[in-house]
Amino acid sequence: MVYFDIITIFPNIFDSYFQTSIIARAQKFGLVKINIHDLRNWTIDKRKTVDDRPYGGGPGMILKIEPIYKALRSLSKAKDKKQKIILLTPRGKQFDQKMAKRLAKMKRIILVCGRYEGVDERVSKFVNEEISIGPYILTGGEIPAMIITDAVTRLIPKVIKPDSLKEESFSQLTNIEYPQYTRPEVLTFKDKYSRIKKLKVPKILLSGNHQAIKKWRLKK
Ligand code: SAM
Repeated sequence: MVYFDIITIFPNIFDSYFQTSIIARAQKFGLVKINIHDLRNWTIDKRKTVDDRPYGGGPGMILKIEPIYKALRSLSKAKDKKQKIILLTPRGKQFDQKMAKRLAKMKRIILVCGRYEGVDERVSKFVNEEISIGPYILTGGEIPAMIITDAVTRLIPKVIKPDSLKEESFSQLTNIEYPQYTRPEVLTFKDKYSRIKKLKVPKILLSGNHQAIKKWRLKK
């Protein structure tokens, strides 16, 4: 069982995605446990303040350090070597399949989602890694947290059949997976000049010749 603890100020964002398909099944079968934590639970004032203006001036608001620090103290197991506390940030190391494989060996993954103009710089003192999911800026760390949880979960043993993972893009065997087709064998469609066109499935895939198909796929 791998535990994901996601710290966010918008806990509802995760509901539909994590209750659907493979991720939902992985939770149902006890292969992963995903806990979404509202950062406001660790605030101390009546208004449950999680953000404040930046020192030195500048636009927007910054997520405060104390609630995040408290959340991490209560969720992390200090001596657990198989735990990673991750801050989602555009300046972090770019997430890739290699990272996903490494994280899939952990027991507990704690993900801190920033919002607004980001988090107080001192948060970085309390995390093990800073991860970006790509060289662009999103509104918050929730989608990055979903991406990491998804990519890691499907690598956890028994979540997906090993055969499906073997030939996937970025796996050991292949860098980019071969092209895949399903029915119909011929797609008839109109192009932008309303001319009738056809798109066919490569003949080799219909041949039943498994050796030849394997060779074709490797080449592709
Ligand atoms: N002012 C910050 C900057 O220039 O780097 C951007 C803050 S962004 C609007 C708000 C939050 O979204 C960040 O704190 C981070 O948690 C998350 N975020 C945005 N883009 C991200 C990315 N590419 N990877 C990971 N997290 C990201």
